[in-house]
Amino acid sequence: MARYRGPVCRLCRREGLKLFLKGEKCFTSCVFEKRGFPPGQRSRFARPKYSDYGIQLREKQKVKSIYGVLERQFRNYFYMAERQKGITGENLLILLERRLDNVVHRMKFADSLPQARQLVTHGHFLVNKKKVNIPSYLVKAGDTIEVREKSRNLAIFNREGKKSNQEAIPAWLEVDRENLKGKVLSLPRREYITIPIQEQLIVELYSK
Ligand code: SF4
Repeated sequence: MARYRGPVCRLCRREGLKLFLKGEKCFTSCVFEKRGFPPGQRSRFARPKYSDYGIQLREKQKVKSIYGVLERQFRNYFYMAERQKGITGENLLILLERRLDNVVHRMKFADSLPQARQLVTHGHFLVNKKKVNIPSYLVKAGDTIEVREKSRNLAIFNREGKKSNQEAIPAWLEVDRENLKGKVLSLPRREYITIPIQEQLIVELYSK
């Protein structure tokens, strides 16, 4: 499973947006807040001016960084979105939201998406009572997600009160924190995705 292995704060600086890829650390000592300019030797002095193509490309790169997806897989999601009924851009975001690592993160079982991905890969979660260790697994409405019995004593799943400064659980998910389980109430809708994304720019980019 390929994934980005470089410095993650660099991604936030590149996109000019806090992507919260380091969990709790993002709320205490954020590199983006100290050095909000893009990475690169001269970027502090000469801010890039993007063409239309550049703006579309940056939007795509931003969404890839948010969901931790590399180019080939992202393009496959786009093709899937195109084949579905409805608006392609919205379909694309909904597919990305349905990834198991994203759902684990949204349910607050992990502090960040990279951490959620690692927990899933290490087999700490059951989906509908079956072990699933594939971060790209797409959840469906009605699916239950729970921490495996053997993993329930891990410190990471027993840290009450640490998430108070984070956003709320989205309306399409339900979480029973006491029993370390959750449920997908419905498929996500576009309005539940609050991250600032202009998905039509990605559609325009791939439609060239
Ligand atoms: Fe981004 Fe978090 Fe690093 Fe801040 S600390 S730059 S939000 S990954």
